[in-house]
Amino acid sequence: MLQMAPETMRDLAHHVADILIERSGRLPDERAWEGDFKEALAHQLDEEAPESGRPARDVIDRAARDVLNNTLRLDHPRSFGFVPTCPTWPGVLADFMASGFNVNAATWLTASGPSQIEAVVVGWFRRWFGLPEGAGGLMTSGGSSAALHAFVAAREAAGNPERPVAYMSNQSHSAQIRAARIVGISPDLIRVLPTDRSGRIDAGQVAEAIVADRSAGYTPTVVCGNAGTPSRGEVDPLPALADVCAAERVWFHVDAAYGGFAVLVPRGAQALEGMERADSINVDPHKWLFQPYEAGCVLVRDIATLERAFSIQHDVLQDSVWGAKHANLADYGIQLSRGFRALKVWMSIQTFGMAAFRAAIGNGLELAARSADYARKSQKLELVSESLGIVCFRVNPGGLDEDTLADMNQKVLARIFWDGRAFLSSTMVNKRFVLRLCIVNHNTTWDDVRETLEAVEQLAVDVSE
Ligand SMILES: *Cc1c(COP(=O)(O)O)cnc(C)c1O
Repeated sequence: MLQMAPETMRDLAHHVADILIERSGRLPDERAWEGDFKEALAHQLDEEAPESGRPARDVIDRAARDVLNNTLRLDHPRSFGFVPTCPTWPGVLADFMASGFNVNAATWLTASGPSQIEAVVVGWFRRWFGLPEGAGGLMTSGGSSAALHAFVAAREAAGNPERPVAYMSNQSHSAQIRAARIVGISPDLIRVLPTDRSGRIDAGQVAEAIVADRSAGYTPTVVCGNAGTPSRGEVDPLPALADVCAAERVWFHVDAAYGGFAVLVPRGAQALEGMERADSINVDPHKWLFQPYEAGCVLVRDIATLERAFSIQHDVLQDSVWGAKHANLADYGIQLSRGFRALKVWMSIQTFGMAAFRAAIGNGLELAARSADYARKSQKLELVSESLGIVCFRVNPGGLDEDTLADMNQKVLARIFWDGRAFLSSTMVNKRFVLRLCIVNHNTTWDDVRETLEAVEQLAVDVSE
C-alpha cells in the first residue's frame, strides 16, 4: 500500500537530488528572499487531505515550487539577516540517510552505532570548548531546546528550590527567558540586567543581585552569560561571571548558540575565553558549523547533572538496559524517540576535515572585519559595532536628527527587502535603529558583501531624494 517499487524510489530520489543541486547552483543569481501573503498561500495550498494519491513527481514538484520556494534563502551568499547558515551537502545527505535508515537514537539497544557517533561528536565539541573529561551532552533540535536542558539541570543541581532566580542581560536571547519560564522561574525572578554601551553584562552587578536575592529568601539558580549576543555578537565578561558563579556557587550557563564555534579559530578562541568554565553551554551546529536545521547541542560540565535531571526508568523500556558502559541518550533529555542529528556533523567533518571548517569560520570573521572597515570609511554609512561576525551600522549622511535617521534606515531596509539582491535585518543598539549583517556563510565572498553595502549606500541616496 505504502511501499514503492525500487525503480520508482530511485527515480524520485534522483529527481529530488537534481532539484536541490540546481537550486544550489542558481542561488547566487536568485533573490535572497521569496514569500507571499497569507491569503495567497491559503488560496493556493489549503485543501482537505486527498483520498486518492497523485503522481509522486507532481507532488515533489509542487512542494518545491509552491511551498519550499516561499522562503528566505538562509544559504544565499548575500543572506545576512538574523543568523543564517549554509549547510554542507554531506550534512544534507546525512539527514536523508538518517531518515532512510529509520534511526531512533533513543537507546543503545535501538541505535548503538548512532549512539556511539553522537558520543564522538559531543566529545569533539567538549574538547573544542575546553570542558574536562566527565563532561558530556546531547544533540537537540536547536539552541532553545539545548538551553532548556541546561536550565533543568541547573534547577535540579540547585536542589529544585522553591523560589529560583535566573540572571541574564538585556542582550540575552529570548530562548534564555523562555527556558527560565519553562523550568518554573517566575517572570519576576528572571533578572534581566542592564549592559554597558557595548552590550556586555557587568559581573559585579550580577554578584550584587545574587547577594540581594539570597538575603530576600530566593535561591539564585543560574547565571547566563553570552558568547555572542544575538544583536551584536558581543561576548559577556565570561571569566568574571565564572568567578562570581564559583564564589556564589551558582550554576554558570553560557549561551554560545550563535558564537560558540568561533572557538575553532584563534581570534574566536580569544574572544570566548572563560567559556570553558561553564557548567553548561548551548551551541548550534545549524549556525556556524554549517549544518541543516535542526542541529543544536547542550554540553554540561558533569554529565551526571543531565542524567540526574532527566533519567526515568520505565517498565516498557526495561529491555533497553542492554550492554554495559554506554549511555541511553534518551536519559539525557526530553525526547525519547529522537532522530540522528549527530550524523550530519560527523559526515560533513569527516568529508571536509577541520581545516576547511576553520577556514570557513575564519572567512566569516574576516568579511565582517572588512565590512566594518568599509562602513567606517564610507561617507554615507556609520559603523556602530562589529564583533564575532556581526556588523551593525546605519545610513548616516550627517546633520540629521535621530528620528529622521531611524526613519531613513527603516526605509532603506524595506527597499533592500523588496529589491531582493541581498537580505539584511535590523536591531536596536542603545535605542538606535541599526542595520545588521551576520556573515557566517562559507560561500559568501567579499564581492557579495561589498555589493550589498554599495546597494545600501545607493538606496540611501534614493530614499533621501
Ligand atoms: C539562535 C540563537 C538561540 C536560539 O537557538 P535556536 O537554535 O534558534 O533554538 C539562542 N541564543 C542565541 C545567541 C542564538 O543566536
